[in-house]
Amino acid sequence: MPAMTNGERAPAPDYGARLARAAAAAETAGVDAVVVGPSQDMVYLTGYEPLPLERLTALVVSAGAQPVLVVPELERPGALLAPGAPAVEITGWRDGGDPYHEVARIVGPAAHRLAVGDQLWASHLLRLERELADAEFEAAGPLLSVLRARKDPWEIAALARAGAAADAAFERLLAEGLEGRTEREVALALAALLVAEGHQTADFTIVASGPNGASPHHEPGDRRIAAGDVVVLDFGGKLDGYCSDMTRTVSVGEPAADVKATHQIVREAQQRAFEAIAPGVTGEEADRAARDVIDAAGYGEAFFHRTGHGIGLDVHEEPYLVAGNSHPLEIGNCFSIEPGIYLEGRYGVRIEDIVALTGDGARRLNEAPRDLLVVG
Ligand code: ZN
Ligand code: ZN
Ligand code: ZN
Repeated sequence: MPAMTNGERAPAPDYGARLARAAAAAETAGVDAVVVGPSQDMVYLTGYEPLPLERLTALVVSAGAQPVLVVPELERPGALLAPGAPAVEITGWRDGGDPYHEVARIVGPAAHRLAVGDQLWASHLLRLERELADAEFEAAGPLLSVLRARKDPWEIAALARAGAAADAAFERLLAEGLEGRTEREVALALAALLVAEGHQTADFTIVASGPNGASPHHEPGDRRIAAGDVVVLDFGGKLDGYCSDMTRTVSVGEPAADVKATHQIVREAQQRAFEAIAPGVTGEEADRAARDVIDAAGYGEAFFHRTGHGIGLDVHEEPYLVAGNSHPLEIGNCFSIEPGIYLEGRYGVRIEDIVALTGDGARRLNEAPRDLLVVG
């Protein structure tokens, strides 16, 4: 099925189709209307990405009705430029008006079950609840995340471009060398390289050297990287709206034998999880595949986070590779596989790739070497 692998030729997002799927999913779930605020849910459904503000912007989707985007009047010109604008009715409200009343009018008096986007501000939700006093409110996350987790070939191609750009930034960083630079300097250089390689934004650059590597989300600081350090580099940003997120662990100078051994265990765990990926395998089974390797090596306590998270418009989204997730993976799912071992006071090791589950099987979207690289 070449269309599954050649996303470059796949059509760009069909927002009308996405909105129709969301309306159908709502109807199936018995939800009368879905109300989404500024968020990647709104981007997914309309291509419109306003700032979340005190002025209400809300997309209302319900079965059998045209979707309506309620925007502050002064934002209307911007909303009209969104690629999905032709698929929605856009209605502006002026300062001094009541957008909550407007949403209630669109939803209609018969609506009794409303699902609201996970990122709709509480201040807006509380006003909506007051306006629609007889309705029950629930989170739209479970409804929308299922749709967003099924990436089409165009989305997988976008994630692949982001992954390739992250690979290239990593390669250029290593060519510069790490020894003698502070974590913060390396983090800034890496962010610049992500942008130089095509990212619109560099959103995070974790540089965790020596003992700092034992903290998975270490904030890069003034520690100067020296020979003998193990360094965890975990970084990513957005390219064409889709996220990159990769991790490699390198050794500055020749690694000690125990570092080599620990790295090999993590590498094996990452590989086993990758090999376990198939349609129907659950998120917890994929997690278990990585965890079994680390448990068997005696480091179970030192791997204290999930094996992976879905990725797409958001850097963390469904599906999660984690204990308790009994949902089966399906074709189109894209997620990280990122086992690690963290040794307090000593160092940490993590290896992370983004993986797409396509019709042709699991495919890594990061290709930088997964060996323990020795750098200067
Ligand atoms: Zn993380
Ligand atoms: Zn990461
Ligand atoms: Zn990640």
